[in-house]
Amino acid sequence: MYLRVSDISKHYGCPKGIKPLLRNLSEVSGYPEVDYSVRGGTEALTIGNAAHRVVQYVLENPPEKRDKIHEEVQDALNSIKQDVRMPSLISEILGEDFLTGAIHDQLLMSSWKECRNLLDCSISLLGFLEDIPGSEGKWEIKAEMKIHGEGVSSENVYQKNIFGSTTLLHGSIDLVFEYDHYLIVAELKTGVFAEWKKKTWELQTQIYSDACNFIYPDKKIAGIILHKGLIDGYNPVSRDSHWADSLDDSGKTIPGEHCQYCDQKLSCNDSWFKQINSIR
Ligand code: SF4
Repeated sequence: MYLRVSDISKHYGCPKGIKPLLRNLSEVSGYPEVDYSVRGGTEALTIGNAAHRVVQYVLENPPEKRDKIHEEVQDALNSIKQDVRMPSLISEILGEDFLTGAIHDQLLMSSWKECRNLLDCSISLLGFLEDIPGSEGKWEIKAEMKIHGEGVSSENVYQKNIFGSTTLLHGSIDLVFEYDHYLIVAELKTGVFAEWKKKTWELQTQIYSDACNFIYPDKKIAGIILHKGLIDGYNPVSRDSHWADSLDDSGKTIPGEHCQYCDQKLSCNDSWFKQINSIR
């Protein structure tokens, strides 16, 4: 069996919401791939994907090139505000068709803001990490590092007992910062800030940190979430290796504002979404 980390965090660990998302590995050929296209189902998703892509483009460069690329991307982003036109560098990063079929100026301006904010948060985190003595200019950064699949040795496959079945966890970490024996799991977040969203981001980061702790036992692991609404743009997240313990009874519910993203939001008796709609 396998489960996507994003499906667990999206439901804030609600067992009833998560149970139908448990998949049988034998029903899929190989590991299902993550969709890396920038255009998402909604404008908010598209803007979030764009910000991820821009930040990953800058930070994935080797340390000696990173400052120069950061400056070039920052200049290109700033030119959007002034010219209300897509600069060629950003178009190269996001793909020629990024603005196709969209309300051009609106998507461009919203994307500019999110890209700039998330890039500032990420550079601020890098500055913080570089305070570790000897690490300045030496952090290697990987984007979309998988916790499953070919890159993970067979003895380090990360799995948990979920609803009585041994379950493989699938997911890709937005950014992994590595220096010496340090490995930092960083999740990039966009959109309007809300405390309930922060809890779901923390759960996702806890799971990824626990996975890295298992896969790379010699590393010192830390988890961090990044969002413009957090002080300094980032926040540490403590690791919890017992996060799956509550996924034992599929009848249990954890209602909350995350219910709005659950497929059972209209049928589940405990649904926060249903209760709120009945009050209105
Ligand atoms: S609607 Fe809410 S409480 Fe009900 S299953 Fe979904 S996430 Fe859980």
